[in-house]
Amino acid sequence: MEQSAGYRLEPQKKIALVAHDNKKKDLLEWAKWNREILAQHVVYATGTTGKLLEQELGLEVIKLQSGPLGGDQQIGAKIAEGEIDFLIFFWDPLEPQPHDPDVKALLRIAVVWNIPVACNRASADFMISSPLMSGEYQRLTPDYEVHLKRVIGWE
Ligand code: PGA
Repeated sequence: MEQSAGYRLEPQKKIALVAHDNKKKDLLEWAKWNREILAQHVVYATGTTGKLLEQELGLEVIKLQSGPLGGDQQIGAKIAEGEIDFLIFFWDPLEPQPHDPDVKALLRIAVVWNIPVACNRASADFMISSPLMSGEYQRLTPDYEVHLKRVIGWE
């Protein structure tokens, strides 16, 4: 598939942080360690994750709904609208989630729009320490024209 011009990421990135309950401690530790860097960007989070980030780190966070109440879908919608550049999503591989379809949908839409995604601490460490974090970046997106112009049976 061809790539289209995509989106230009400014030095200040829009980062979404989400952690399932058993992974919240991990995410908070990671965020604490990287607090100074995160503070230079715009941070979004699902409701409970965001509340904890504000309480524990004093970080300014744009809080959406709690994940199981639609927060994951809100983040997915913002990715589709080009409003979120970057996803750190510590999902729990050992416990079923009531909103599993939303989790899957969020991970899928991040791939559709070529968003960097980290699902564990090591990946998040590599991502946040990338020199690309502090500069501009042209995020290519696949060219979906073929999909948009496809012929539907009755046309
Ligand atoms: P929460 O949602 O931050 O509101 O707990 C996280 C999730 O389960 O997606």
